[in-house]
Amino acid sequence: MTDSEAKSRAEVLRALIEKANHDYYDLHSPTVGDRDYDMWERELLQLEEEFSFLKTDSSPVRRVSGGLQEGFKKVRHDPPMQSLDKTHAKGELVEFDSFIGKSVSGFSYVIEPKVDGVSLSLKYSDRVLVTAATRGNGAVGDDITANVLTIGSIPRRLPPTAPAELEVRGEAYMTREGFLALNARQADDGLEEFANPRNACAGSLKQLDPKVTASRPLDVVIYNAGGVGCDGFSSHTEMINAFAEWGFPTTPWIKKAANIDEVFSAIDELEKLRHTFQFEIDGAVIKINERKFYNVLGATAHGPRWARAYKYAPERAETVVEDITVQVGRTGILTPVAELKSVFLAGSTISRSTLHNEDQILRQDIRIGDHVWIVKAGDVIPAVDSVITEKRTGSERIFKMPSKCPVCGGEVHREEGEVALRCINPGCRAQLCRRLEHFASRNALDLKALGERVADALVNSGLVKDVLDLFSLELSTLENLDLAEGSAEDSRSEKIKECELPGLFSKPVRKFGRNAQNLLKALEESRSLPLHRWLYAMGIAGIGVSAAKEIALAHEKFTDLPGSSVLKNVLENDLKKGKERLILPIKVEAAKSLLAFFESEYGQRFLARMESLSINPMSEKKNPPASSGPLSGAGCVLTGSLSRPRQEYAALIEKAGGIVQSSVTSKTKYLIAGENVGATKTEKAKKLGTIVIDEARLIEMLSGK
Ligand code: AMP
Ligand code: ZN
Repeated sequence: MTDSEAKSRAEVLRALIEKANHDYYDLHSPTVGDRDYDMWERELLQLEEEFSFLKTDSSPVRRVSGGLQEGFKKVRHDPPMQSLDKTHAKGELVEFDSFIGKSVSGFSYVIEPKVDGVSLSLKYSDRVLVTAATRGNGAVGDDITANVLTIGSIPRRLPPTAPAELEVRGEAYMTREGFLALNARQADDGLEEFANPRNACAGSLKQLDPKVTASRPLDVVIYNAGGVGCDGFSSHTEMINAFAEWGFPTTPWIKKAANIDEVFSAIDELEKLRHTFQFEIDGAVIKINERKFYNVLGATAHGPRWARAYKYAPERAETVVEDITVQVGRTGILTPVAELKSVFLAGSTISRSTLHNEDQILRQDIRIGDHVWIVKAGDVIPAVDSVITEKRTGSERIFKMPSKCPVCGGEVHREEGEVALRCINPGCRAQLCRRLEHFASRNALDLKALGERVADALVNSGLVKDVLDLFSLELSTLENLDLAEGSAEDSRSEKIKECELPGLFSKPVRKFGRNAQNLLKALEESRSLPLHRWLYAMGIAGIGVSAAKEIALAHEKFTDLPGSSVLKNVLENDLKKGKERLILPIKVEAAKSLLAFFESEYGQRFLARMESLSINPMSEKKNPPASSGPLSGAGCVLTGSLSRPRQEYAALIEKAGGIVQSSVTSKTKYLIAGENVGATKTEKAKKLGTIVIDEARLIEMLSGK
């Protein structure tokens, strides 16, 4: 290779790596697989070694990537937070071992999981957590203290046995389960889903609003010393034990090894366990256990010489994207789905994988006919990791999202701030099928006999045109419901059977039969389910399980929801820029969409039908109101601006035996009027026999005066 060839190859590699870094660290949305990335990095390192004129400090392999973000204070790392040198080959670990053996003697190893999360530094002063920071570019990171404080397992204070001044380093991660639940929520709200737990974790930590971080299931593992307070330990294992004693979460798996053969057994053992941890791991970290050697061995610009990362081959499978189809969800969101040539990966056969949205397809440049690598995100959900571009023949087709709903032919819209396209036809059959399925799901009305196939059959047979039609179904019709009515499109295994053995199979006929009775019974029981279950069942955009619970708690019954002043307050407060944000801890969009639902024609009909079916679900209050106390049994309404969050007062009133109401009725005893309450409001209350008091009087009454 000539100098100029090397130079231009290095430029290509740098551009590839920089782009991948940007997608991964800044956009939290990776576009290449780990293996390709590592290969580029390696090739570039080799080139820079061989052609030393190419070596510059700004090369992406000579500095730590990770990106800094605007809006966060900066924190300097002393010593810098480094990366780790990586290898995929055991042979290179042998080299590593002999290199160490040449420099020092009397050493042993320790092996830990390489947690695939986000590096963190935690600083304690006087044993109190004062600063938490990301790795950033290694020398300087983002100060994310407010966000890290929301992670419950991180100690705020350390016991007296810990040094007063201390810095420890480790990795934040999102639990596997938490990741799946978060993505389900994101999809429900029409927001972009995260590619994997690592990206979800990074995105969660870089929130400007710690409340968002608090709602995300994050945890940490502490595995490294920082710049202060860790000098006294003779070995890494001793240090980790002390960390655990001081209250830090440490790695659940760690092994000592006397020599390189024991290192190999340990990394093999860990590989077998790799899917059993709460966090994803992408390899093993091999460290010298004796800390006295660390200074002697020193570090390169990239990472310490006393440690190596051994990366496991990603569990992935090659397959072909045979087609890209479009699914229509409950809220009308159009989701592109890759129809894959069936392939077996990590315990199951995979034939489809969601591609999330058009942006994601463009970013990953996935085309119909492409050979791709499939991985499992969070070890569960099949995902396209990367396209094997070398295998392109030129006959691949670029996918475009349809401009009409593929099921009903209705118009599609892309709403501002959303990545997804939606079918906005309220009568869309596909939406109805999925709404019905949602209506019957476990956190909704829990109608076990009603799954995807039955939902499709009920809609396709014309028996159900709206979810509430379920309540008019009769046993005889239901028993004879032909489940083959559920369109074969939705059941892929059947489609395959049919094409494999053409003509041999007529459409299987299966009747609903005995399950009809179970469904009717469950429907009868669902009438008395609490308000939050119904609210969630209605499947309104933005009303997930937790929003439904919060909203239900602030109301007494279903019929209080239309035009609810509590919900309107959420909107008003948003206009006032969040002065009293805490009245109801839900997103403004959720309140907006619920109010809009009841104002819509469909919402009005839904209300009327609920009334004619005599269904009016009641709220299940968290704490039944205390029967005694200074406000025993008194209905109270809070209005105007108060000096403390309304929620706080509501809790105090309930503790004192009062009943918090959302608006003044004849049953309201006290109207607590904060500042800026119009006279008309208080006059109206007085007419109903309500006593109007101010905040100061409320405080007196709460203390029993
Ligand atoms: P990379 O992010 O691929 O450059 O890999 C290096 C990173 O691995 C370090 O910066 C740490 O954040 C992370 N890491 C995960 N687990 C460990 C561990 N047990 N010991 C040291 N570093 C770890
Ligand atoms: Zn449609």
